[in-house]
Amino acid sequence: MSPVIPIRADFGKGCTDVMPLVERGQREVFCGLTGIIWLHRKIQDAFFLVVGSRTCAHLIQSAAGVMIFAEPRFGTAIIDERDLAGLADANEELDRVVDQLLARRPEIKLLFLVGSCPSEVIKLDLSRAASRLSAQHSPTVRVLNYSGSGIETTFTQGEDACLASMVPEMASSPVNAPKELVIVGTLADVVEDQFVRILNHMGIDRVRFFPPRRAQDHVPIGPNTRLLLAQPFLAETARLMQARGASLLVAPFPLGVEGTSAWLQSAATAFGVTPERFQAAVAAPMARAEASLTRAKLQLDGKRIFFFPDSQLEIPLARFLSRELGMKLLEVGTPYLHRQHMAVELAMLPEGTFLSEGQDVEKQLDRCRALHPDMVVCGLGLANPLESEGMTTKWAIELVFTPIQGYDQAGDLAELFTRPLTRRMRLAA
Ligand code: SF4
Repeated sequence: MSPVIPIRADFGKGCTDVMPLVERGQREVFCGLTGIIWLHRKIQDAFFLVVGSRTCAHLIQSAAGVMIFAEPRFGTAIIDERDLAGLADANEELDRVVDQLLARRPEIKLLFLVGSCPSEVIKLDLSRAASRLSAQHSPTVRVLNYSGSGIETTFTQGEDACLASMVPEMASSPVNAPKELVIVGTLADVVEDQFVRILNHMGIDRVRFFPPRRAQDHVPIGPNTRLLLAQPFLAETARLMQARGASLLVAPFPLGVEGTSAWLQSAATAFGVTPERFQAAVAAPMARAEASLTRAKLQLDGKRIFFFPDSQLEIPLARFLSRELGMKLLEVGTPYLHRQHMAVELAMLPEGTFLSEGQDVEKQLDRCRALHPDMVVCGLGLANPLESEGMTTKWAIELVFTPIQGYDQAGDLAELFTRPLTRRMRLAA
């Protein structure tokens, strides 16, 4: 495994040694299929074919329904009871659906077969199906597979599984290739462009993003690669990229002014950027971002917030809300705590923050009700019942669908938290 490169900033100890409350009971989270909603918009020549049941088709359609403005780049091959009779039928059916799809959509260059959890799908060997179909349709179309099943993945883990399936396909960088920065995790195009401008201003010119906007834009990887994670839910992807020789830069996540600055600083340190050049590149956007938080801070300062585990963004969000907007953290729940990727975030959390990992939803609801927070961040399934009990909620899924990373989005991110409070105040007036 390649080294991990530390950043210069020292954030103290914070919650570094805190042991979270670990719960392994009933969970209320989306499955990994949900990631298709943002991934299909990012990789523009890819198609996501869910191999699943009618339930999976409904989930994807209702989660994405409002966002479809053209022919979607995802669909569901419904494997039902009829296919239980014999696996040969299911494979034939899959081949038939793929042939039809590729004949009708010649723009597709990368096809993901996405597994789900119905028992008839689990019996299908999708990795074998992907190899068979890849051999059949290469070089025009590559076929990969991953699981978005609710048994194996929660919500954002679907992106991790998808990106991890692409790592073995990445070309190896040539020996002695110059150092290159690879930013890992789906970001909105506009956010990528902002980061490129700032990094270029610092003198870091070799910057790539993974996943790329087009499947055909190959991102090479090797010992010259410096990885900067843009999303906190990419444990497996990062592990596989490190196994290919890339070095992971230690950083918090680029949420809020402080997180974005420290994230960029870690790249600057790895590429030998001088403090003066770093300052010149970040000073203006940083000042704009600080100013954009002023109004939200007035409204959020001192408000008490409770996070249910959902997207794995909870810890970085809690750090931003407490340090930059003065919110009080009652409980910060995360589906999974990756101590290495969260090391800086944990150090930046206020000492004594109550952390929980996993879920036992009824017990967590009891804790939440007892504390009666000013705001609850949770999944859609919990939001309506909690609202009806008089609590103010923020849908975690919105935080994944909205561009929130970087300086220019810091104000928008803060506003996502002021809006529910304003709405409740208006309802109460
Ligand atoms: S993958 Fe499983 S949890 Fe997700 S929609 Fe399909 S059946 Fe439901």
